[in-house]
Amino acid sequence: MQLSDAIKKAKEELKRQRQNAQYEASFLLDSLLTHPDIKEAYTSLRLLEVHHIRNKHNRAVTASDEKNLILAQNKFNKVLKNRGISVDRLNPQYKCKNCFDTGYVAGKQCKCLTELIKDILYGEYLTVNKGRFEKSTEKLLKNRQCYQEAEEYCKAFPKIDKINFLIKGHTGVGKTFLADCIVNALRDRNVNVISVTAYELNKMFFDDFMSEGHKILMDVLINADVLVVDDLGKEPIYKKISLESLYSLLNERQLKEKSTIITTNLEASELLSRYGESILARIANKKTTHILVLTGEDKRLS
Ligand SMILES: [Zn+2]
Repeated sequence: MQLSDAIKKAKEELKRQRQNAQYEASFLLDSLLTHPDIKEAYTSLRLLEVHHIRNKHNRAVTASDEKNLILAQNKFNKVLKNRGISVDRLNPQYKCKNCFDTGYVAGKQCKCLTELIKDILYGEYLTVNKGRFEKSTEKLLKNRQCYQEAEEYCKAFPKIDKINFLIKGHTGVGKTFLADCIVNALRDRNVNVISVTAYELNKMFFDDFMSEGHKILMDVLINADVLVVDDLGKEPIYKKISLESLYSLLNERQLKEKSTIITTNLEASELLSRYGESILARIANKKTTHILVLTGEDKRLS
């Protein structure tokens, strides 16, 4: 899903929320007005209010008008209270008390709208991945050791020494499957994991680079506990957008000590020439990264 779609969806959701609150309030009022005492108190209050507004407009409000209005309001409150209802309940019960579910406060986007957009985006990345450690049929000893290292990491998370993974190997040796095993094992432990392909990630950078929403998107990606970027190297590179966005994402995550898991079939030298030194230092630093190399035949052909 593109960011613009997520924003649209969030605004629709907020509008629905707002209308629901209004509908519920008016439904409650309608049902209360079936009681004669409430109806009587409500009708006289409304009449006085209309009268008051008109007088105010004509600057002809008297002290007794004010007093009558307050009395009518008190009476209405009282008949409601007799039935155990607070007058506040007749106001729409908006979820957000800052923007009343409009999404904006003084022309600025409200936090609730930003959070909703993030939730929608995040939900999109919760794809169901197939890989599970217990389902692995890996036979090669070297690969099994990689699985073991990854499984131990998941069990220990977040108490880990090296926070990142770089999973390397040729096409078809099971890099994505291993990354999926990590994703599922961590999600079983309620860790917030976002899993995207490098292609999708690059497309997101590109589609929304100039928009205000880019910040929201980066926020979602930066703050996930674990970010998996599958198949780095397959995406087209647009120097300014792809590399700058990728660098800033990886750098922010490193500063926040958030785990990033990358799979690729590129060699270190290819990664270096494609992404440059500063990005390479953030994905292949042995001090912070488990570097796993899967070997063997292309499983998809066997
Ligand atoms: Zn709000």
